[in-house]
Amino acid sequence: MTAKVALATSNEGKRAELAPLFEELDIELVLPDARLMSEIEESGLTFIENALIKARAVSAITQLPAIADDSGLSVNALDGKPGIHSARYAGTPSDALRNNEKLLATMSDVPDREREASFQCVLVYLRHPDDPVPLIGIGSWEGEILRAPRGSQGFGYDPLFFLPSLNRTAAELTTEEKNAISHRAKAAKQLVAKLHGS
Ligand code: IMP
Repeated sequence: MTAKVALATSNEGKRAELAPLFEELDIELVLPDARLMSEIEESGLTFIENALIKARAVSAITQLPAIADDSGLSVNALDGKPGIHSARYAGTPSDALRNNEKLLATMSDVPDREREASFQCVLVYLRHPDDPVPLIGIGSWEGEILRAPRGSQGFGYDPLFFLPSLNRTAAELTTEEKNAISHRAKAAKQLVAKLHGS
């Protein structure tokens, strides 16, 4: 029997990306009311804490098991910033162009060999709001921050995120290429494996 699990996002694109991975477990991902998502305060200091806060809130409201993700860019030379503040690095409302401009300005003095960064993604699964044993998938995708944007695919920091092994930025990959190797794909695969084993 197909089990409904609430996905703590209002982003239909995220659901579309994750849904096929969870189908093999007979899990149907359903989205909660978008207003609910905007009311959840992500008060944690880490990706894991914020993902748990979102999953717990959504599980409590929907009375369903819940999956939540939290992700962002972590730059080594900036002690992991923008990190959990990636979406609103340049202020509210979230604006990818301004975020990228701020990142370039902040890193203008960082030499080429010290521009390593990673996209991080955490996906958590709670069976119910009080579940003390969440299942957690973590994915990291390593790259370097360029000095100017390249490419028009993707979103967020993709045009600045250069993958030396592919000689392209994340914004120069097709959606399929990115979804096969990204931080989100790695976290999802880990979580699916844990759900298989649980
Ligand atoms: P959220 O986890 O969907 O809230 O994403 C947090 C922020 O991290 C996004 O708004 C982007 O700024 C950044 N981010 C996360 N994943 C990616 C990615 O795959 N490409 C580019 N930026 C990303």
